[in-house]
Amino acid sequence: MSQLTIALNKGRILKETLPLFAAAGIEPLEDIEKSRKLTFETTSPDVRFLILRGSDVPTYVEFGAADVGVSGKDTLLEHGSQGYYEPLDLGIAKCRLMTAGVVGQTTKPGRIRVATKYVNLAKRYYAEQGRQVDIIKLYGAMELAPIMNLADEIVDIVDTGNTLRANGLEPREYIADISSRLIVNKASMKMKHKQIEALIDAVGSAVLEQAAA
Ligand code: AMP
Repeated sequence: MSQLTIALNKGRILKETLPLFAAAGIEPLEDIEKSRKLTFETTSPDVRFLILRGSDVPTYVEFGAADVGVSGKDTLLEHGSQGYYEPLDLGIAKCRLMTAGVVGQTTKPGRIRVATKYVNLAKRYYAEQGRQVDIIKLYGAMELAPIMNLADEIVDIVDTGNTLRANGLEPREYIADISSRLIVNKASMKMKHKQIEALIDAVGSAVLEQAAA
């Protein structure tokens, strides 16, 4: 069997991903949280995990540096869908992609400034709405931008809405439902078909079991 490299998204998504792989019989040989390593052998001798920043997962999979990846749909929408298949919705790390602005302030008519880390996605969304926007790229703490008058709106992911509320913001428009997806490099899907199909089946069963629990 050839080696299968699986790129995982560190942080919140990783915590919810590992139980699914464990249920499919694949567990890291070391505690990922306690190590500074970026690659981990697993209980399955032909499978290794890479631990990456979320936005790098689709890049590794697209270029075939990883065969398989786990990535939030928000990251995939921002990255674009070239170079990989998306065969499985893992049903984890669910949230919504929304626009948000200052509580009680209605959306300004005309051209507005939008702060987000999802530059491509936001451009597409506002273009579909026929709205003129200037996008400001931020790398974090988007919620601060409307309060400090850096932007009129933000585009961000919202789970409970607590972070928005704590910063004097409210959700405005719904853009998309988000959850994490299994993605597969297109060439790997051909070259390592049996192995990857077995993985999709095993992880898919774990997803169904978790949904039923
Ligand atoms: P909230 O529950 O709305 O207060 O969410 C707080 C923050 O956690 C959001 O601004 C996001 O940055 C982050 N977050 C929420 N859900 C997810 C998710 N599924 N994946 C990654 N980050 C998330």
